[in-house]
Amino acid sequence: MRSVRDSISVIPLARKAHAGLVKWSVRSGALRLWNALARRRRLILTFHQIRPPGRLLDPFDTCPSASVDFFREILTYGREQFAFLPLQDLCTARVGSKPLAAVTFDDGWRDNYDLAFPVLRELGIPATIFVTTGKIGSTELFWQQALGRAFHRAAAHPAGESGRRLRRALSGDEGAPPTPELYRQTVSRWKRLPPDQRKERLRRADCLPSAPAEDSRCFLNVEEIREMAAAGLAFGSHTVTHPLLPQLTASEMDRELRESKDCLEDLLRRPIEMIAYPDGAFSEAVLDRVRAAGYRIGCTTQRRRIGNGKDGLCLSRIDCSWYAAGVPDSFLPDVFEWQTR
Ligand SMILES: [Zn+2]
Repeated sequence: MRSVRDSISVIPLARKAHAGLVKWSVRSGALRLWNALARRRRLILTFHQIRPPGRLLDPFDTCPSASVDFFREILTYGREQFAFLPLQDLCTARVGSKPLAAVTFDDGWRDNYDLAFPVLRELGIPATIFVTTGKIGSTELFWQQALGRAFHRAAAHPAGESGRRLRRALSGDEGAPPTPELYRQTVSRWKRLPPDQRKERLRRADCLPSAPAEDSRCFLNVEEIREMAAAGLAFGSHTVTHPLLPQLTASEMDRELRESKDCLEDLLRRPIEMIAYPDGAFSEAVLDRVRAAGYRIGCTTQRRRIGNGKDGLCLSRIDCSWYAAGVPDSFLPDVFEWQTR
């Protein structure tokens, strides 16, 4: 975070003029105004999957991921610049000498327990995990990743049965090679299909779940959620089935919002008042249902500046995983200085 002193030092003035400017700033109240603006800075970071050391980004996976090394690095750096606090306190807490930040995770991946939790404990940083409750303890990936596996199989053996089935399922793309670009386009198109139609396409592409391997659980289970909650992590809803909420009817929306809330409240024996909208998608109608269901805090994936608590149901967040694809030393300051631009 750039300090007032740094900002002034980049102004190309002689030293004497510089000293005069500082004096003038203090006298005129400009410095106080600058400090007041700085005091309103609040930042929410988001992560999804955390990758073990050595595992590269998967070109056939649209779910963001960051390596555990990146995760540790960004939080270690951030701790020097920001005061980390629980998300539920972010909008209301008074800002001290440092601006405020909160850490969140979406979906409820098992690696949040295996890889992120030890780092959070070591650094003493609180976090909130938004859980897709229908996936608790599940061995079944989201359909986007299941489709990604089909693309992997087709890319490895384009002339094989998997490749033929995938091409048949991708109506309109007959003969197109299974590239990461086609994968991303397909995910974005199929996301908007009615669930039954999408399921039929997935069946044709051989993407419906089969008998899982013993150790293939990919989402947090009940014991892990309880252990992390006992250690001070907070939990919120990410709905039951991870739909795009604005596409649902009011009663479907209510089911997603209330069942996921009830599930976590039963599991943790505490009120659940935070939600992250799947894909960050919301509308005025969604916000009405979210408010009626008893949520107080809602997270989007928008990147606009967070207000002073008035917009508690549409808080902006920065997805750190997108920065994780770059070179660590060049992107760290960018993430943390975004709110200052
Ligand atoms: Zn999600």
